[in-house]
Amino acid sequence: MDKLIPVTQPYLPPLEEFVPYLEAIWDSKTVTNGGQFHARLERELCEYLGVEFLSLFSNGTLALITALQAMKITGEVITTPFSFVATTHALHWNGIRPVFADIDPVTMNLDPKKIEAAITPQTTAILPVHVYGSPCEVEEIERIADTYGLRVLYDAAHAFGVRKHGRSVLEFGDMSVLSFHGTKIFNTFEGGAIISRDAKTKRRIDHLKNFGFVDEVTVVAPGINGKMNEVQAAFGLLQLQHMEKIQAERSRVDERYREALAGVDGLVLPTTPDGCTRNHSYFPVRITRDFPIGRDALYDELRARNIAARRYFYPLISEFPTYRGLPSAGRSNLPVASEIAEQVLCLPIYPALTPADQDRIIDLVMTFARQQQYAS
Ligand SMILES: *Cc1c(COP(=O)(O)O)cnc(C)c1O
Repeated sequence: MDKLIPVTQPYLPPLEEFVPYLEAIWDSKTVTNGGQFHARLERELCEYLGVEFLSLFSNGTLALITALQAMKITGEVITTPFSFVATTHALHWNGIRPVFADIDPVTMNLDPKKIEAAITPQTTAILPVHVYGSPCEVEEIERIADTYGLRVLYDAAHAFGVRKHGRSVLEFGDMSVLSFHGTKIFNTFEGGAIISRDAKTKRRIDHLKNFGFVDEVTVVAPGINGKMNEVQAAFGLLQLQHMEKIQAERSRVDERYREALAGVDGLVLPTTPDGCTRNHSYFPVRITRDFPIGRDALYDELRARNIAARRYFYPLISEFPTYRGLPSAGRSNLPVASEIAEQVLCLPIYPALTPADQDRIIDLVMTFARQQQYAS
C-alpha cells in the first residue's frame, strides 16, 4: 500500500528549537493564567495579523462561544450551513436559535441577499464564515448589519493572515474568531483567539475566559475556562517564526494543482475574490456533472490509494439531527449549499507534501478526467 497522504498535516519546527521555550517555562514556574509567552504571543499575533486587540483561547470553539457571550447575543442568529459544526454549536451552547441562509455558488460564503431575506424581529446578529479562507462580502454584510441594527461575528477559523484591499479581513464585523487547531495553517496544537475592536471589549473577553474574574475577589460574569497555557503560547511564538516558509510551501502546492488541473472539464478550482490575498489553507475543488465520475466515486478511488482527500463540508450542518428540524434547515431553503456539499472535495495541501506525493493525487484525478476526453 502506498504511504498515507492526509488532507493536512501540522508544520512542526525542529524539536531542538522548542527546548529553550520549555526551559524558560520550567524556570519561571508559570504554566498558565497569562505568563510571559501568552503576553508575547498576543502582541506578536497583533503585529503579524495587523489587528489591535486579540485575546488568546484554548480553542476556537470556546472563543466562538465566549464572543457570543461578550456581545450578549440572544434570539436568532443568521448563519451558514456550509461550515464545520462548531460554528452552529457555538450558537446552540448559548441558547441561540440558528437560522440557516443559503450560500453564494462562487465564494461558497453566506449570500448577502439571503441574509437580508432571513431577518425577523428576533434576529440579533449574523455569524458568517470566511470559508476556506476566502473572504465574505464584508462591505455588503456591514451595510445589512448597520441597516437592521445587527451585530456581526465572523468565524474566521480559516482566514489566518488573509487581507482584503491591504486590510486584515479580521478587522471587519464586531468580532472575529480564529482557530489554532492542529489542522489549521497556524497552530498551537489546540488554540484560538477573539479579535475585538477596542480595549474595553478585550478586557471583558479576558475576564470571561477566566471564569469572570477581575481580581482575586471579584467575579463579574459567569465566565468559562478558555485560557491558553504557556506551552501552547510558546509553540505559537515558535511557529510564527516559520510562517513565511509555511506559506511559501503551501503556495507551491496550490500552484502545482492549478497548473495540472486548469481547464479540466467538470473540475472547478478555487477562486479568490477581487483584492483579496489567499492563505492556501485548503484546496477545495468542485466535481460537477461534466466530470466523468461523481465526487463520491473520486473520493473512494483516492481513499483506495491511501489519499485522504476530505469532503469538507459534507454533510451540511443543517443535515445533522440536532439542527435538521429547524424551519431554515430544509434543502428547499438551501439549494446552493446542498448542491455544493455534494460536489466539493478538498485535496491534500500542507508544507511537507512533496511534488512526488502530489503527483500521485494529480495523476489519479487526470486518469479519470482523460476518460471523458476519449468519450467525447
Ligand atoms: C476549526 C474550526 C472551528 C473550531 O475550532 P477549534 O479550534 O477546533 O475549536 C470553528 N469553525 C470552523 C469553520 C473551523 O474550521
